[in-house]
Amino acid sequence: APYPIFVHGQVTKGFGRGGKQLGIPTANLPEAAVSQALSHIPIGVYFGWAQVLAGDHCVRPMVMSLGWNPYFKNEKRSGEVHIIHEFKDDFYGAEIRVAILGFVRAERDYESLELLVEDIRVDIEAAKVSLRREPYWRIKDDQFFISSC
Ligand code: ADP
Ligand code: MG
Repeated sequence: APYPIFVHGQVTKGFGRGGKQLGIPTANLPEAAVSQALSHIPIGVYFGWAQVLAGDHCVRPMVMSLGWNPYFKNEKRSGEVHIIHEFKDDFYGAEIRVAILGFVRAERDYESLELLVEDIRVDIEAAKVSLRREPYWRIKDDQFFISSC
C-alpha cells in the first residue's frame, strides 16, 4: 500500500467557489505538491491528518478531495483539504502538512449541492471512525508533524 503519503506546502487561494458558504472550506494544496506527491493515486476522496503551521499547530482529522483542476483546463490535479475543525481565521499562505492514510470513495457527480454536502458529511464521519484505529491514530504523532499541540 502506498500509505501514508506525506505532502506539505503553502495553502493557495482557490476560486472561493462556495466551500466556505457550504460550511466546508477546503485548503488548496500547491499545484507542485499535488503533481509530485499525488500523481500515482486515483482521484477521489481520502482521509488522514492535517496540521496548519499557524495558530495552535494541532494535528487534526481531515478529508481531502483529489480531482481535476478547472483552472488548468482539467490537465492538472487539485488537492483540497477540509480540516475537521472550526478555525477562527483563514490561513492562506501558511504551511499545511498532510498525512494521507487511505481512500474513502471515488469521485461522484451530484444533482444538487445539498446531495454533495450530504455526502461530504458522511465522508467526515467515515474519516473520524477510521482515524480511531490504532495504526492510523498513531500517525498523529509522526515526526513529519512539527511539535503538535
Ligand atoms: P478557496 O477556493 O480559496 O479554497 P474556500 O471557500 O474553499 O476557498 O476556503 C478555503 C480557506 O478557508 C482555506 O484556504 C483556509 O484559509 C480557510 N479555512 C478555514 N477553516 C478551514 C477548514 N476547517 N479547513 C480548510 N480550510 C479552512
Ligand atoms: Mg477550497
